[in-house]
Amino acid sequence: MKISFYGGVGEIGGNKILIQEGSTRLFLDFGKSYHEASKYFEEYLNPRSAHGIKDYLELDLIPRLEGLYRKDLIDILRKEEWKDLKYTAPFVDGVLLSHGHLDHCAYISFLDEKIPVFTSETTAKVLRSLTKIRPKVLENEILEVSVPHSKQATRRKRRKRVINTISNSQPFTIKNLTITPLFIDHSIPGAVMYFIKGKKINLLYSGDFRLSEIPPERLQRLYQFLAKKKIDVFLCEGTRVQEKKIVREKDVYRRAKSIIEKVSGLVVADYSLTDITRFRTLAAIARETGRTMVLPFNYFGYLAFLKEQGYTIDDFKNIRLYPKKKAALKRWEKELLTKYPVVDKKDLKEHQKNFLVVLNFYQIQELIDIQPQKGSYFLRAITEPHSEEMEISEGRFANWIEHFQMLGLVEQKSSKDKKNEKDKKDKRKFIRTHISGHISGKELELFINKIKPRLVIPIHTEHPEDFQKFCKNVLIVRRGESIEV
Ligand SMILES: [Zn+2]
Repeated sequence: MKISFYGGVGEIGGNKILIQEGSTRLFLDFGKSYHEASKYFEEYLNPRSAHGIKDYLELDLIPRLEGLYRKDLIDILRKEEWKDLKYTAPFVDGVLLSHGHLDHCAYISFLDEKIPVFTSETTAKVLRSLTKIRPKVLENEILEVSVPHSKQATRRKRRKRVINTISNSQPFTIKNLTITPLFIDHSIPGAVMYFIKGKKINLLYSGDFRLSEIPPERLQRLYQFLAKKKIDVFLCEGTRVQEKKIVREKDVYRRAKSIIEKVSGLVVADYSLTDITRFRTLAAIARETGRTMVLPFNYFGYLAFLKEQGYTIDDFKNIRLYPKKKAALKRWEKELLTKYPVVDKKDLKEHQKNFLVVLNFYQIQELIDIQPQKGSYFLRAITEPHSEEMEISEGRFANWIEHFQMLGLVEQKSSKDKKNEKDKKDKRKFIRTHISGHISGKELELFINKIKPRLVIPIHTEHPEDFQKFCKNVLIVRRGESIEV
């Protein structure tokens, strides 16, 4: 079996891994690498949409392979004298999509729509819901393409991509590979791990996963299944390979609840929009502390459109839509306004202790209308900043919280600060209540010991060498490398 790593090694995300056995070729995810894209782009400096995938190819953000991309996108390249790639019928037999995070699925948008995508029913629902609330741009054509891209948006035709939904533990075959999907837990619903049986090689692809939220009996069944299979190669995510602590969502619940119980004013919180586990935690706390949960259009829409597809959302009755004033509403926003209960802004302003409002970084200006009363709290239930830009945004966010004299910030003082008072502002930190969607190093060690793979290839991590601390047969590969196993 040949494995080619077009993304997702030596970095967090951007998984694009091609496996080939005989004439069978499958991509394991086809995601966007934020790490690579941020080398060239930032807000307001983006790939030029009118050129389709030209900028992505030039900057090696996607592999230069024939038989992969949409004909209408290749046609744009041909017209622009970029003749490296011709259009040919698909040379891959499918994409096994692990979950709906963009670093695993965004660039499926560029793929020939005839290439089938295999994923869980829940991930398909998540993507349908997200497609509705996201801007209609080329990178969001995961489920449906709008062709030809060279024409104006209003003159294009929509064509559905082939999405084949798969069931937990139900094997299916693609030419000479037999694939068993193993549904797993992550910070977005619908995540799948794939066990792939070839002629000589058994491969396990982890996708992104964590074990902390899986009930013990389900975890036991997973271990039993995997221990029986002789796993030759384990492509294993290691986002948090250096992390020793095991924390659970119930720790977030306890901590957040003990904070919110004591808040005499308004509670404002943020969380990652697609994280239903976190929504459930906050919604339960809101209910138990007698608060109504209020969500902005995008958060509300994601949940409502999932619910409309039959996905169970607990506590939906206790949520209200926050009707942000906008110059022009999108169609889906108008739809929400007519279908669902909207919070009375006057009531919200006057009875702040009855509400828990969700506002993220890009929605924080709403505090100007709400005017949080004394004793109000901002609860950050989202990941720590992990880049320089995020640190800067974090400081800006803290300024908003300070401006409204809300609680939720602490100052971290060190002995050095006393000498240098100027640095004081940068030491502000949010009191966070968050756990990651990724397995810790401690649990990885346990997991790998249980399933005993012959070879481990770390993916989705900046620290692949750390696997060697608890695992004997580790192969570290680089982006662009191909190996035979
Ligand atoms: Zn993920």
